[in-house]
Amino acid sequence: MGLILYAIPFFLGFIALEFFLSKKRAVQVYRFHDTVTSLNIGFVSETIRSVLKLMSIFVYALVVDQVAAFEWDIGHPAVWIVAFFMYDFFYYWAHRSGHEVNLLWASHVVHHSSEEFNLSTALRQSWTNQVFYWIFYLPMAIVGIPVKVFVITALVSALYQFWSHTRLVGKLGWVDRIFVTPSNHRCHHGRNDYCIDKNYGGTLIIWDRIFGTYTEERDDEPVVYGTLTPLNSWNPVWGNFKNYTTLWRDMRNVTGWREKLHVMFAPPGMVGGKTDPLSTAQTSKRFETPVTRRQMVYGWLASGVVLAMVIELLRVSSHLSWSERATFTLMIVISTAFLSRVFESRIRAAKLEALRCLLTLSPVIAGLWFYPVPLVVRGIALATLLISLTLLRSLHQESTSAIRSNTLEIA
Ligand SMILES: [Zn+2]
Ligand SMILES: [Zn+2]
Repeated sequence: MGLILYAIPFFLGFIALEFFLSKKRAVQVYRFHDTVTSLNIGFVSETIRSVLKLMSIFVYALVVDQVAAFEWDIGHPAVWIVAFFMYDFFYYWAHRSGHEVNLLWASHVVHHSSEEFNLSTALRQSWTNQVFYWIFYLPMAIVGIPVKVFVITALVSALYQFWSHTRLVGKLGWVDRIFVTPSNHRCHHGRNDYCIDKNYGGTLIIWDRIFGTYTEERDDEPVVYGTLTPLNSWNPVWGNFKNYTTLWRDMRNVTGWREKLHVMFAPPGMVGGKTDPLSTAQTSKRFETPVTRRQMVYGWLASGVVLAMVIELLRVSSHLSWSERATFTLMIVISTAFLSRVFESRIRAAKLEALRCLLTLSPVIAGLWFYPVPLVVRGIALATLLISLTLLRSLHQESTSAIRSNTLEIA
């Protein structure tokens, strides 16, 4: 938990740096709605993954304890070198399966749902991937790589992958052919034909070269970011679960458990033997909704509250019961979904968001939170609620007049 708290300012600092550098170079790398969606998906994923990670580490430790084939000296460099290569190798296969198996793609797709490519995209991590991916690393437990070595190796790999999500670093020559770099990872996020199912590596790209999935970025065909079937939403909850609903629908459409299993494990887009022709036709069109200054101010304020809640949950989670922890997490998840409705200018979105603010912040203000809250925090919550309600009132008026003028135009 402590490491995540330290990593958050580090990530946000680099995102801010990339934003200012892109402004200086006059390249548009960030779009407001996309960035906030990526950040909120990332913030929530930390709370959910912190629980699931503990479970997977528990299973890993159990396997090491029961079936480890060798005993390793943690102080010897060999164990770290072996762990690094093994982890990176299994990462390649886990990631490749994440793209080539329907069930796993349903989880991983959210990382690819952004139609931008920047450091905030790196934080757009699936809320459910920890349910599946730990299985891929069990061979490391079987050969006896100690838990501590496994956890540190996984952490270093995750931190390494952050920097590869940028458009501001160009091609790096031979480095692009050995390591995962911004250039080859840009291809991985592309929906151009030459980018599909390519460059799965985590730290080393050599696995892609060995197993035939490597491609180089082309100067004559710039990468278009996103998926063949776009998400077309700013909703983090929908982003995380949309493909599960599609999978469920496809499974219901076939009869017999063999067919249902086929749907679950077939490559994405191959169910029924064809891909969606509409999706491939619109490769360069991006999902866009109008953004106003008030929306930006409110979006940052609401995301700040989401981040504060996430940090607080991570800080106190060990003192909470499972039901309290689940309620706290659900409040954060709902907050991100309601905010996205405001971004998409949905009918009554601002009113519902105001109600959500009241229900979330009132218990803090009234001192009826899961545990005693200092007076100063209650004061900050009150001020946040008042500012939020004022902004939401004007956002409601803004969207009502926009709807009215649209109706007049159509008439
Ligand atoms: Zn991927
Ligand atoms: Zn990525």
